[in-house]
Amino acid sequence: MGAPDLHTKLERLLGPRRALRDPDALEPYASDESGLGRFPPDAVALPETVEEVRELLRLCALDRVPVTPRGLGTGMTGGALAVSGGLLLSLERMNAIRDISEGDLLAVVQPGVVTGHLQEQVESLGLFYPPDPASLESCSLGGNVAENAGGPRAFKYGVTREYVLGLELALIGGELVRAGRRTVKGVTGLDVVGLVVGSEGTLAICTELILKLLPRPQAVATFLAPFRDAPAAAEAVSAMVRRGYRPRTLEFLDGGVLEHLRRKGGWPVPASAGALLLVELDGEADGIEAQLLAAAAACEESGAVEILVATDEARRRQMWEMRRNVNPTLKELHRRKVSEDIVVPRSAIPEMVRRLDALAAVEQVTIASFGHAGDGNLHVNVLFDEELAPEKLERILTAVFRETLALGGTLSGEHGIGIAKRRFMTLEQSSALLALQRSLKRSFDPEGLLNPGKLLP
Ligand SMILES: Cc1cc2nc3c(=O)[nH]c(=O)nc-3n(C[C@H](O)[C@H](O)[C@H](O)COP(=O)(O)OP(=O)(O)OC[C@H]3O[C@@H](n4cnc5c(N)ncnc54)[C@H](O)[C@@H]3O)c2cc1C
Repeated sequence: MGAPDLHTKLERLLGPRRALRDPDALEPYASDESGLGRFPPDAVALPETVEEVRELLRLCALDRVPVTPRGLGTGMTGGALAVSGGLLLSLERMNAIRDISEGDLLAVVQPGVVTGHLQEQVESLGLFYPPDPASLESCSLGGNVAENAGGPRAFKYGVTREYVLGLELALIGGELVRAGRRTVKGVTGLDVVGLVVGSEGTLAICTELILKLLPRPQAVATFLAPFRDAPAAAEAVSAMVRRGYRPRTLEFLDGGVLEHLRRKGGWPVPASAGALLLVELDGEADGIEAQLLAAAAACEESGAVEILVATDEARRRQMWEMRRNVNPTLKELHRRKVSEDIVVPRSAIPEMVRRLDALAAVEQVTIASFGHAGDGNLHVNVLFDEELAPEKLERILTAVFRETLALGGTLSGEHGIGIAKRRFMTLEQSSALLALQRSLKRSFDPEGLLNPGKLLP
């Protein structure tokens, strides 16, 4: 590591059990869920207090050691990989829920709290924290803030950004600042919280989060709508939006995904379906049936082959398990899966699916897509069984991004840029915009020590 005595300083601060450098102990921190390789850090620190985080950031600045913040390592773009070595600073032990205020509808939490755990706690009080990444049982709220995580419910409720009222931030060098507020309204100063949300751990370390809560919806209704093809499913989505309906989720599975689910077996995939929507609505108990009937009618008018309503909780759970099993199924049935996370205007989904099919035919690979149709957010999976030449994979990914941008879209909807898409940033953003972001980064981190090699090309 940068300075020979840094490890001694770490041990002095945290003790040997929370300052790791043994290769076996470092191993779990060498990779994440991106599949982008192993990058063992030189040391791992497991702080338990904000004072320890501050001291670690002070030591790293002093010795010019790169620091990579890490939540629970479920990131899909390599943000938590220590690509430059140095110190990996894991927030996993800072996992206390400090306060849940029913009167003010907010929660104050440490960054290492597992997202699903906060949801359970607030729901038991009749409250609701909507952001629901599919990884919610294994990712942290700090990681969600750093990636501005989304999920199926984002169509109605928005992404993590909409729920972050305030942040306590530890800066490189050890200074601590509080940005944002504990109130619902507030416009004082520049929006530093907005800047840090989605900054992938490149600007500051979030040590405490103040999160907005909502009252828990009284009732939920769920149905599957199979369609002949993707354009029909997309028309149903547009019809619902045009009519002002607001399902909480509008999940889309294309024909390629359905084929894989059929091959795997065990899921309720109607034989006639060439595309599928999983629609879920929520609201007041006495209005939910009317909502369900209206959304189902919009699907039928757009060509839904049938409507399969989840008549009980077990059936609803099965529908969601099918959706959550899409990723594992694609992984299991192919030797390699490269997963992208693009967004197009929702009306452009059929055209994007058509262009992806054409690309798959030209390149002789399988491409299967699914995602949050209400937001135009598609997880595009390039699947192959024989190793692909790296130039070919690069050509395919470049083509996916070029088509996305040509349709007015963007490179990432929720997984972030990390190291996975950094080299593609110039396809979307101008050099002036990138220069502006670099100068903001320098204001927070003049020496470029915090999560180097991420996000900005
Ligand atoms: C099966 C699966 C399903 C997923 N589904 C979704 C989904 O539906 N929606 C979605 O948005 N994402 C999804 N993801 C991606 C991932 O779970 C999210 O990006 C999540 O927010 C990462 O949280 P984490 O705690 O694992 O963070 P990590 O992977 O540990 O870190 C992610 C980034 O956040 C930074 N970071 C972490 N903690 C802090 C902190 N306290 N302060 C500053 N920076 C920090 C890291 O430096 C890194 O850049 C999925 C992943 C998997 C494996």
